[in-house]
Amino acid sequence: MSKITLITGATRGIGETIANGLLLQNHKIINISRTGIVPEVFKNKDFISYKSDISDIDSTYKLVSDITQKYKIDNIILNAGITNDNFFHKMKKEQWQNVLNTNLLSIYGILNPVINQMRNNEKGNVIFISSINAHRGVMGQTNYSSSKSAIVAFNRCLALENSNKNIKCNVISPGYIETEMSDSIREDIRKKITNEIPLKRFGKTEEVLDVVNLLLSDNNYFQGANIDINGGLLIR
Ligand code: NDP
Repeated sequence: MSKITLITGATRGIGETIANGLLLQNHKIINISRTGIVPEVFKNKDFISYKSDISDIDSTYKLVSDITQKYKIDNIILNAGITNDNFFHKMKKEQWQNVLNTNLLSIYGILNPVINQMRNNEKGNVIFISSINAHRGVMGQTNYSSSKSAIVAFNRCLALENSNKNIKCNVISPGYIETEMSDSIREDIRKKITNEIPLKRFGKTEEVLDVVNLLLSDNNYFQGANIDINGGLLIR
């Protein structure tokens, strides 16, 4: 039977590639994003799109509760995320709140109804997309880095709480990946970063999909794990 995978932010970038890869493996994809658009590549495919700003916990919780009434979710991938960089001493309250709300606090609305459904079904897969910058200091990213490292901490607890219900919970922490988010990096800074990466290139969204496939494979021993995929930029 085909699997049902709920993913946030599948309209472009890493999320789009993951959705595309899973569609090719006959998953039904349910996307949640702010625009709720169906990208051209997904027209006439088993791709449903819902519009919700995940930083609004209450409306997202309501939407996801309705989705779980209709569909039995096998996998959930919490991918949507934003950056809004500034040095902390210059950071506006809105920059702080938007990043924390979108990347971290949103988890309640997206995941709480789904984890309850997965517990009832006694199976499921939860995958978070965190970041290399969860695991190191970066100037200008007190908001982003805190949100992404909190995801790693959250996942450790979630994995312990749900192992007895056969629910796998894991995190992927990508380094620099070619997407619109990384396109916004200034050319001179991009060159400097590329030079610092031991593999001398940004990663591809397909390489993140490879890790998702590994985590969704039937027999794997990952639980509560964080998987770094960063071309060697952070080796620990
Ligand atoms: P993109 O900016 O390319 O895409 C982000 C996606 O998230 C879009 O589909 C967007 O859809 C959705 N989204 C953003 N904000 C919201 C919101 N408030 N509510 C609902 N949906 C939202 O991002 P990437 O593909 O580059 O990144 C995906 C994830 O990977 C993020 O969590 C990011 O932090 C992480 N990451 C990315 C790296 C990179 O180099 N690209 C490196 C490390 C981590 P819409 O506009 O329709 O809302």
